[in-house]
Amino acid sequence: MKICVHLWTKLLLGSLPLAAGSVSAQKSTLLRPASVFDGQEQHAGWAVLVTGDKITAAGPAAEINLPSDARTIDLPGQTLMPGLIEGHAHLLLHPYNETAWNEQVTDESNAFRVARATAHARATLEAGFTTVRDLGTEGAGYADVGLKQAIDAGVIPGPRLLVATRAIVATGSYGPKYSTDIDVPQGAQEASGVEEAMRVTREQIGKGADLVKVYADYRWGKDEPARPTFSQEELNAIVQTARSAGRPTIAHATTPEGMLRAINAGVETIEHGDDGTPEIFRLMKQKGVTLCPTVAAGDATLRYRGWKKGTDPDPPRLQQKRVSMKAAREAGVAFAMGGDAGVFAHGENALEMELLVDEYGFSPLDVLRQATSGNAGLFHLADRGSVRAGLLADLVAVAGDPTRHPAVLREVRLVMKGGVLLRQP
Ligand SMILES: [Zn+2]
Repeated sequence: MKICVHLWTKLLLGSLPLAAGSVSAQKSTLLRPASVFDGQEQHAGWAVLVTGDKITAAGPAAEINLPSDARTIDLPGQTLMPGLIEGHAHLLLHPYNETAWNEQVTDESNAFRVARATAHARATLEAGFTTVRDLGTEGAGYADVGLKQAIDAGVIPGPRLLVATRAIVATGSYGPKYSTDIDVPQGAQEASGVEEAMRVTREQIGKGADLVKVYADYRWGKDEPARPTFSQEELNAIVQTARSAGRPTIAHATTPEGMLRAINAGVETIEHGDDGTPEIFRLMKQKGVTLCPTVAAGDATLRYRGWKKGTDPDPPRLQQKRVSMKAAREAGVAFAMGGDAGVFAHGENALEMELLVDEYGFSPLDVLRQATSGNAGLFHLADRGSVRAGLLADLVAVAGDPTRHPAVLREVRLVMKGGVLLRQP
């Protein structure tokens, strides 16, 4: 609950203007940082011109033609970069060390969860994440669709959302689980059989899903290992139904068999992939399936269970994750940057990038590309993820050089979304 108080204090103090819709007609703004990370490379001495909601020029400062009415914002010592893209979050969840997942799903009303989510959206945007792929409301119905509408309408500040709505689980495989005599709301929508899988997929798309999320495996009982859930035929039906509606399907999968079925069905990304084998990762590479590893969620969950990081030895789960991540990298699998924010605090999204660099051998440049141009490409967002004329003016400035270490991303000084300044020096 500590986070909640902190966020509401921030809301009351009003560090952000709420009028997110107030774009001043076609007025231009020149942003002059020390350097620009354009989604691929760092360029010293570049400047970026924004007109309306778009970037209209980006390049060496001296070469940019300045409109007479342009205002200039100097960003000394700062790096200007594309708005960051979070690949895996749940705005309707808050950290499990505050309230366990079961209790969030069963004891917290939708109204309470949505109210929290508005604060989560704001914290995420303030941290420089201007787009979020939100992968399931975990029992909060279609609240993500309404949340997205409220953000797009300028009612509340928040990132642009790609929403999965309820997500799809095999009947009986998900939670919360109580006595056999009690039916409680589940964390996702249940389906069994090809027909029902198709019906549920269509229902979610009809209500606003930008993408379809399916759980290809899960633990059937408490404290047992994950095992496959849907059959190959059911997964195929979900992916094909979504595809014909122009939506990608992504899969939660941690076991080799669950991953294999999801890959064969044609999902675009595998979320987690903890027990992936070299063979499975080679197949992912071959079929162009992306891994979103969510190392931050695993790290947080272990800490919540009492693991003292830096003192205690690595728990077996973490040792296994290091082995599978190494295999995925050796196979040349593409990575999406996504940490499963919600398991840990929204606004701490850079944690995933820090862990990838500090503990998994990625370079700072690797993870910066993943979180900008990389995720934009993987999620079919051709209008963002790079600093280039014609793209959306979703821009972030941080104090220092994030190509040296992603911890620099914690020093956000400016956030612009669609040309509107939401946070400035
Ligand atoms: Zn998740």
